[in-house]
Amino acid sequence: MPQIQKIIAALEKRFGAEVRPDRDPLDVLVRGILSQNTTDSNSKRAFDSLIKTFGGWEAVRAAPLPALEKAVRCSGLARQKAASIHAALSWLNARGGYNLDFLNGLPIKQAQEELTAIKGVGIKTARLVLLFGLGRPAFVVDTHVLRTGERLGLLDARCGRVRAHAIMSELIPPQKTYSVHMNMIKLGREICRPKRPLCRECPVARYCLHPGLC
Ligand code: SF4
Repeated sequence: MPQIQKIIAALEKRFGAEVRPDRDPLDVLVRGILSQNTTDSNSKRAFDSLIKTFGGWEAVRAAPLPALEKAVRCSGLARQKAASIHAALSWLNARGGYNLDFLNGLPIKQAQEELTAIKGVGIKTARLVLLFGLGRPAFVVDTHVLRTGERLGLLDARCGRVRAHAIMSELIPPQKTYSVHMNMIKLGREICRPKRPLCRECPVARYCLHPGLC
């Protein structure tokens, strides 16, 4: 798609080209599990509560599930999330340590499959770990990316999340994966909102299939 370079450039002109900060991959995984179906502030509170209560990953893994549930209750779906965190830590413990760096030695598809084999870890959380935690070019499609991608004609509304990840990964140059992901989220939050998007302020209106929705 020849327009993609122009879209990337227009987004960078408006929002800049954010550089990925260093983040611990296991923190990203646990935060990703806690973020499902809740707000950013609630998942942050749950993560902080987990660390404050147990102090480290070995203590979290060894804790009884009801204690884990209590620690993450403020993020909702506590039973499911506690079980998922426990499954992730048990898997790493069986591998010999609480470290996800070994995923760097695997192709992205295989690394993604290792992560999604953990109960409760979906494709988005797996790719968040690869992109945010390990700096791999695994494009992440969230609700903002899906909406803006559809309006810009990059994604088909019927393609589904799994296919959407593959399409965006093929479209975006690897070195731009993080910055384009962040810029599509900024576009979706600030301008291309679900209802009444601010099309007159949109930096990519000329490439849009539905300009003038507002
Ligand atoms: S022109 Fe409007 S609908 Fe299209 S991408 Fe921009 S804000 Fe979204």
